[in-house]
Amino acid sequence: MMVLVINCGSSSIKYQLFDMTNESALAKGLVDRIGMGKSSLTHIPAHRDAVTRTADIHNHSVGIRMVLDALVDKEIGVIDGLDKIAAVGHRVLHGGMKFSDSVLITPEVMAAVEECVELGPLHNPANILGINACAELMPGVPQVAVFDTGFHQTMPPYAFLYGLPYEAFEKYGVRRYGFHGTSHRYIAQRAIQMMGGRKDLRIITCHLGNGASVAAIKNGQCVDTSMGLTPLEGLMMGTRCGDLDPAIVPFLMKKTGMTPDQFDTYMNKKSGLLGLSGVSNDVRDIEEAALGGNDRANLALEVYCYRVRKYIGSYAAAMGGVDVIVFTAGLGENSISMRSRICHGLEFLGTILDSDKNQTRGKEQEISADGSVVKIFVIPTNEELVIARDSVEICSMLCKTDKDHPPALIEKFA
Ligand code: ADP
Repeated sequence: MMVLVINCGSSSIKYQLFDMTNESALAKGLVDRIGMGKSSLTHIPAHRDAVTRTADIHNHSVGIRMVLDALVDKEIGVIDGLDKIAAVGHRVLHGGMKFSDSVLITPEVMAAVEECVELGPLHNPANILGINACAELMPGVPQVAVFDTGFHQTMPPYAFLYGLPYEAFEKYGVRRYGFHGTSHRYIAQRAIQMMGGRKDLRIITCHLGNGASVAAIKNGQCVDTSMGLTPLEGLMMGTRCGDLDPAIVPFLMKKTGMTPDQFDTYMNKKSGLLGLSGVSNDVRDIEEAALGGNDRANLALEVYCYRVRKYIGSYAAAMGGVDVIVFTAGLGENSISMRSRICHGLEFLGTILDSDKNQTRGKEQEISADGSVVKIFVIPTNEELVIARDSVEICSMLCKTDKDHPPALIEKFA
C-alpha cells in the first residue's frame, strides 16, 4: 500500500512516497520557489540520482501536478499509476485547540483548519492549498491531516497559559501550542521502546534542527514544550531569537522605527545563531569559525547550548526528575561537539555522557555512560514516516468503525 506524504510551505512542497507494506521510502523530493520564478522540482527516486526539472510553477496545484507526474514518469517514476496511491498524509502546522490527533480530512476538518489560519498565517494557508490540490488531482483518495501542534495538546493549563489577562486566551486563543509534535512523539515512542516498553518514564526530547524545541513527556504524554503560540518561543534557533524579555519588542521598535512586520522578520529570520554569530545559521559553519578564533561564533554556540541545558533542567523540575534525554534533528543527530557541550554541566541530574559512544552521527545510539542514571539517546527523527503511519491507521480504523465511510476507504483499506 502506497502513501504519499505532503508537506507544503508557503513557497515549497516537500514530499515522500512510502510503500507501507515494509515502510520503505520509494521516492522523495522538493518543489521549490513556487510563484517566485526559477521554480524547480527535485525528485529523488530511492537508490537513484536526484533529477531536477525547472518549470514555471506558479501555484501549489501546478507543483503537486509535477510531483504526481514525476512519481509515474517512465524514466524517473516509481509507480505505474496514481491509482496505486492509497492515501495522502499532509503535515498541517496549526490545529489550534481543535485537534489533538490526526484526522481524515472532511469538509468540517477543512473549515476548522481554515479557522486556525490566524494562528499559523504562514503555513496553514499553504497546507490548505496542498490539500485542495491533492483533492482536485486525486479525487476519491482519502487524505489525512497530521498536526504539528497535536501531540502537545495534553499540556495542562498551568503549562500552556501565559501570564497575560485571561481574556487574551479566551478571546484570542493566546496560549502555548507547541510545534514539532510529530517529531517529539516519534522519538519519545522510540525511546520508550528502547527502554523495554516502560510507560512510566520522564523523557526530555530535544529536537535541534534549524528550528528547535524541547518537550517534557511524562507517561508518554506531553506535559510541556518550549515553542509557544508560534514557533518563535523557546530555544535560540538558527535564525529565530527564542525567549526574549517581551519589553524588548516595543523598545527596539521605537529605537529602530521597524514596523511590526519588519520586527517579525528581525526576530524570525535575522536573529538566533545567525544574528549573534554574524557568520551563519548553520552550526557547521559557526563551529568552523569558532575553531578559527572567531569569539562571537564561539559565544553564539555557548548561548545555544546554555539555553538547551536550562530547558533540560527546568523540564526535569517540571516532571520531578528525568529518566531519558533524547537528541534529534540535524544538529541533535549530527553534532558531537554540541551534544557534548549541552550535556556538560548536567551531571548533577545523574546525566553522564560517554564521550566514546557520543562519536556518532545520524543513527540510533545510546550515548550515556554505563553509570549514568539518566539514559541519553540519539534517535534520528522521521516525521514523514509518522504521517504515513497515521494515514494508514486512520483510514483502516475508519473502515472498521464508520458505517458511512467513503467508498475509496473500503476499497483500499477494508
Ligand atoms: P530543519 O529544521 O530545516 O528541518 P534540520 O533538522 O535539517 O533542519 O537541521 C539543520 C541544521 O542542523 C543545520 O542548520 C546545522 O545547524 C545542523 N547540522 C546538520 N548537520 C550537522 C553536523 N554534521 N554538525 C553540526 N550541525 C549539523
